[in-house]
Amino acid sequence: AAKGERRGTCRSFEAGMDAAAQEKNRLEIDLRAAVREGGLAVHYQPIVDLQSGQVECYEALLRWNHPERGAVPPDVFVPLAEEIGLIDQIGRFVLGSACSAAMQWPDHVKVAVNVSPLQFRNGNLLSTVINALSTSGLAAERLELEITEAVLMEKGPRPSAIIRNLRAFGIGISLDDFGTGYSSLSYLLNYPFTKIKIDKSFILNLHHEANSRAVIRAVIGLGRSLGLIVTAEGIESDMEREYLRDEGCTQGQGYLFGKAMPAMTN
Ligand code: C2E
Ligand code: MG
Ligand code: MG
Ligand code: MG
Repeated sequence: AAKGERRGTCRSFEAGMDAAAQEKNRLEIDLRAAVREGGLAVHYQPIVDLQSGQVECYEALLRWNHPERGAVPPDVFVPLAEEIGLIDQIGRFVLGSACSAAMQWPDHVKVAVNVSPLQFRNGNLLSTVINALSTSGLAAERLELEITEAVLMEKGPRPSAIIRNLRAFGIGISLDDFGTGYSSLSYLLNYPFTKIKIDKSFILNLHHEANSRAVIRAVIGLGRSLGLIVTAEGIESDMEREYLRDEGCTQGQGYLFGKAMPAMTN
């Protein structure tokens, strides 16, 4: 009945929209409610050293358990949040949650947080990050921010100044999903990255595509010669883990080691 009522109140507003626009409009209303009412959660996926097998880091990944639809993937709701102006607020929530979760872990374990290109545009990313660190008490060296090339394609000096400032505080900067965008080598030289993450699509195709293996090997070689940590995403089998370790990849992340889980609370 509650569902019917809500539909009813939206009917006149939705009358002129096609089905896809209506669907999006409902998701937008529900996302606003989730943000307001604490409906988003942050889960943590382990990233291990491929030599020792030890957990070195956890990546914070947003989860939205929709009351009717069940789990909505971040690939769906993060772009929507960006579009409707919620990403700054959500980004603050993720940074705050991740830094305080990491305070419960051993000191050598880091936390990685994904940052949207839009968070660079609004000019308050640096203060948001510093605030999350000081509120939680987490050392800056234990925080890594994962950015994609989309950040670097923003016009103007801003992203590079912000990245340099973050690095100056001791925060790590990872280039996420490497190999899927333009993968311009000049980015690697012109920004002070500490880590490259090889996109999971290459790992998925590793065993049957020589081209994927060629990209993986080239990225590992490039990263290592620049003194960067190289992490492979999407490792699901022992064969993939062994291949990547033998090629000299530093770290691995994937269902083989664990899926994203809620933080331990004690
Ligand atoms: P990402 O940053 O590249 O995160 C890695 C994605 O790979 C995650 O998907 C993770 O669950 C998935 N993954 C890890 N290991 C495996 C594996 O072995 N097999 C397969 N098939 N997948 C694996 P998820 O959690 O669905 O997140 C998707 C994307 O959404 C993320 O990609 C990131 O771009 C974005 N995202 C997630 N959380 C946040 C956030 O807090 N802020 C922002 N701005 N974006 C986020
Ligand atoms: Mg990431
Ligand atoms: Mg990635
Ligand atoms: Mg991704």
